Amino acid sequence: MCWGKIKHFMQKACTNALLTKENLKKRKIIDEDMCHQCSTQPKSSLHALWDCASIRQVWVADFHWINRHLASNGTFENLLDLVLEKPHMLELFAVITWFLWSRGNKVRLKQDVLPLNRVVFEAKRYLSLHKLVRMTKLQLSRSAGMKWRLPNRIGYKTNFDGAMFHDTGEAGLGIVIQNHEGEVIAALSEKIPQPSLVTLLELLAARQGNFVDDILAKRARFCSSLTVSMESVPLDISTFVSADKHIS
Ligand SMILES: [Zn+2]
Repeated sequence: MCWGKIKHFMQKACTNALLTKENLKKRKIIDEDMCHQCSTQPKSSLHALWDCASIRQVWVADFHWINRHLASNGTFENLLDLVLEKPHMLELFAVITWFLWSRGNKVRLKQDVLPLNRVVFEAKRYLSLHKLVRMTKLQLSRSAGMKWRLPNRIGYKTNFDGAMFHDTGEAGLGIVIQNHEGEVIAALSEKIPQPSLVTLLELLAARQGNFVDDILAKRARFCSSLTVSMESVPLDISTFVSADKHIS
């Protein structure tokens, strides 16, 4: 699932372009438009995503402040206007509606679905991850084009990079710490069996990064879990550091 898809979905919902039963009946593709979950009303976008009694519990905790009477008597676009009274809630609203729409389609196809009482939790988790990736992209775009330079005399310079080992489902992290003369003080290779970091590590690996960190990250494949080298940095790594300094 990507954020672009959710925005596109919201646009379709607001322009009443979703393939709801109500719209399919209008186009004479089906004969009846009754909601199969509550059997009380036609299944419009508003009903499927907000008003159906079968899903109302999803909206209770975070969106209880929306006037349900006003919302139920309008369209999905009117509902969005009500949500915009608290603009910071819009993203969560969009992700929850997307989850509900996907879930409704799976119910119709008799596929396994996320339990209703987990929809908000999973939507918030998705949003947190999305925000983390967005922040990382921003930081990477800010650092793009920066050239290697010596740290000041009292400081150390730290570079890092990531690599994925798709065959084992693990990720590697490489870190090089250098002093003000460019000498390597410490090098670290770590293997991380943490699938949720995959997206971030791929972003890191995709940047125009330090060649040595890249080597260290890939070297992590052969580590048991964590390898830290202090003062006596492995020969293969110190060779690459030297070459990297000349390149930049
Ligand atoms: Zn219903």
